[in-house]
Amino acid sequence: MIGLGPMGRAMVRAYLAAGHPVTVWNRTASRADELVEAGATRAATPAEAVAASPLVLLSLTHYGAMYEILGHVGDALAGKVIVNLSSDTPQASRDAAVWLAERGAELLVGGIMVPAEVVGTDGAYVFYSGPRSAFEAHEPTLRVIGRADHRGSDPALAQLFYQALVHVFVTTLAAFVQGAALLGTAGVTAREYAPLADELVQLARSSFAEAAGNIDAGDHPDEGASAQMMAVGVDHIAGAVAAAGQDVALPAAVKSLYDRMIAAGYGKDSWTRMIDVIRTRPA
Ligand code: NDP
Repeated sequence: MIGLGPMGRAMVRAYLAAGHPVTVWNRTASRADELVEAGATRAATPAEAVAASPLVLLSLTHYGAMYEILGHVGDALAGKVIVNLSSDTPQASRDAAVWLAERGAELLVGGIMVPAEVVGTDGAYVFYSGPRSAFEAHEPTLRVIGRADHRGSDPALAQLFYQALVHVFVTTLAAFVQGAALLGTAGVTAREYAPLADELVQLARSSFAEAAGNIDAGDHPDEGASAQMMAVGVDHIAGAVAAAGQDVALPAAVKSLYDRMIAAGYGKDSWTRMIDVIRTRPA
């Protein structure tokens, strides 16, 4: 394991708890101390860490750190499977696969979907992409940190799944906070609002399957939630937030999507027609 931030340390602890031998290296060496005391082996250099095992896990701030660390390990990469669990752009993962292939190594890209404290528990899961044969050879080991979900051979896929899903997560949380701020202007507590928001999120979830059908078919019949109808509601939300003197960035962003749909003549279609504006940058 190379990279001992909160995430890398949690992974090492999960491996040690599972009785797995682990060699560790970190730029700031002292971060390995507690893990070495718990049974991990300290590598003196990245090359020593890479040489220690056929499977090398990286948990770094970004892919740039991978080049800084592995750029100096010489021939040690040949024949290795490198699992990069760092977050970065999809293209960074594709470029890394090429860079590692040039050095005789295979890249599995990992997108870990849970916080460090959940790593190694039943609730943990990780998206992987890259060569299926490499994934299958190491799946039992990868499963120690969380459910291992291989999504395909394109290295970018794990980053794309990670980003698409974390986007749903962070945007939902931001919308939740915006609602609390708006209700707060009338003295309503967040505690009163939270269960109602929870119910509403379940309603949103129940629309995913039908929306996905429309998006995949490229067909957006209005079945009670037209773009026009939704646009009016979104306009009122942005207006209410602005009138309250609060930050209008999030509702304004949603409003701009509906405005673009109306301008493109999609008002009578289902709101799912948004896919056609969201796929292109505004002029
Ligand atoms: P941190 O950014 O705290 O730790 C990153 C590690 O990267 C440290 O070991 C750090 O070394 C090392 N590092 C950074 N830059 C360099 C460099 N230039 N050269 C050498 N080493 C470098 O990240 P986390 O542990 O929190 O997360 C790791 C990855 O997992 C990230 O990509 C994050 O997005 C992802 N992730 C994290 C989650 C979490 O809850 N923490 C949840 C889901 C994904 P040093 O100790 O010397 O600084």
